[in-house]
Amino acid sequence: MTRPTNQRPKSQAAFDLALTKIPGGVNSPARAFGAVGGTPVFFERGEGAWLFDIDGNRYVDYVGSWGPMILGHRHPAVIAAIENALSRGTSFGAPTEAETELANLIIEAVPSIEKVRLVNSGTEATMSAIRLARGFTGKPVVVKFAGNYHGHVDSLLVAAGSSAATLAVPDSPGVTPGTSQDTLVLRYNDPAGLEQAFDRHGPRIAAVICEPVVGNMGCVPATEAFARALRELTERHGALLIFDEVMSGFRVAYGGAQSLLGVTPDLTTLGKIIGGGLPVGAYGGRADVMDQMLPAGKVFQAGTLSGNPLATAAGAATLKVLRDTDPYPQLETLSARLAEGLDEAATAAGIPHTLARCGSMMTLFFHDRPVSDWDVAAQCDTQKFAAWFHGLLDRGIYMPCSQYEALFVSTAHTNADLDATLTAAREVLGQIA
Ligand SMILES: *Cc1c(COP(=O)(O)O)cnc(C)c1O
Repeated sequence: MTRPTNQRPKSQAAFDLALTKIPGGVNSPARAFGAVGGTPVFFERGEGAWLFDIDGNRYVDYVGSWGPMILGHRHPAVIAAIENALSRGTSFGAPTEAETELANLIIEAVPSIEKVRLVNSGTEATMSAIRLARGFTGKPVVVKFAGNYHGHVDSLLVAAGSSAATLAVPDSPGVTPGTSQDTLVLRYNDPAGLEQAFDRHGPRIAAVICEPVVGNMGCVPATEAFARALRELTERHGALLIFDEVMSGFRVAYGGAQSLLGVTPDLTTLGKIIGGGLPVGAYGGRADVMDQMLPAGKVFQAGTLSGNPLATAAGAATLKVLRDTDPYPQLETLSARLAEGLDEAATAAGIPHTLARCGSMMTLFFHDRPVSDWDVAAQCDTQKFAAWFHGLLDRGIYMPCSQYEALFVSTAHTNADLDATLTAAREVLGQIA
C-alpha cells in the first residue's frame, strides 16, 4: 500500500515567481534540484531536526543547511546569543571582543591553528588561504583533487587536464586559462599520483589543498596512506598543506578530520558549523604563515562584515555547546544506527549500494563498490538516486538533492526521527529496486 504523499502547490508557485527574478530561481545552484528534477521546496521555518515548508508539510531534515546546523534549528543557546548580540547592534566595522572569543575557541579546538582570521564564507576562506600560501612560498601552483569542492574560487573552479600530470582547464565559463594554468588537478586517495606531480612540478607548487574527509562527492574519507603522503610530500618540497575543513571541521570530531587522521596541516579553512547558521568562514594555521597577512604582513585580504557581531555570537555559542556537552558520542550512535538501517534496507531491496560514513556525515552511494575517488563516484546510478530522493521527500524526509552531497545527523535528531526515516527508506527502496 502506498501512503498519501505530501503536496506542495505553494512551493511550486513560489518557485515560478522566483524564476522570474533570480537566475534559476535560487541563490546557490545546489538548491535547485538540478540533479534530481522537480521543484525545490520553499521552507517557512525550522525547529530542531525538522523543517516546515510553506505548504505546511513537515520534514526530518538531513541537509542541515548543507552542514552548519549540527545542533539542529533554533537551538536555544544559539538563538539567545544572537538575540543578545542583536540588542547591541549589528555591525561596527571595528574590533569586538567576540571575535577574539571565537578565534580562541577555534584555536583551542584545532591544535594546528595558532592564529586565525575570520571571513564571511567558506569560499572566502579557501580563496584567502590560497593567496596566503602563494604569498608565503612565492610559488604559483596549487594542487587540488577531483571531486573536492573548495567554494567558487576562480583558481579552484577547474577540471583535470587531459592527463593527470598536465595543468588544469577552466570548469566554468568566466574562468580564464591564465587562472586555471596555475592549478593542478589530481586523483583523490592516490599517493603515487601525488608523488609524480611533485616529481614533475615540485619547485613550482605553493600548496596542496584537500578535503581530509570529502563531503562534496558524497562522503569519501582520505585513506591513512594518502593523508601521510600529503604531509610528507608537501614538507619535502616546501609546499604548504591546506586542509579544507569547511564541512568536516567540528563535524566529524571537535578537532576536525585532522584530529582523526593525526595529520597536522599548515593551514586549515573552516566555515559552516563555526557560524552556527550565520555567514562565517575562517582560515588559520601556523603563526609564522598567518602573520604574512596584512596588516601584520603584506598579503592583502579584507572584509567589511568580517567578524560580524551576530555571526560571531552564533558561531561561538555553537562551539561552546559542542565543547561543553561533547555530543559526538551521541552523534556517532545515532549516525551508526541510521547508516546500518539504510544499508540493511538497500540490501533487503537488492539494490547495489555502498554506505560511506564518517561520524555524522554519510552517503548512500548507488554503486556496488566503495567510493574512493571521483572516477568511481561518477559511475553511481544517479537516476536511482533521484527516485530515492523524491520518494523520501514525498514522505517527509529531506535529504540532499544530489548523490554527491553528504547527509548530516544533528544533535536534535531522535530515535523516533530515525525510525520514521528508516520506515520511509524501506518503502522507497522496495519500490525503486
Ligand atoms: C561548503 C564548502 C565550501 C564553500 O563554503 P561556502 O560558505 O559555501 O562558500 C568550501 N569547502 C568545502 C569543503 C565546503 O564544504
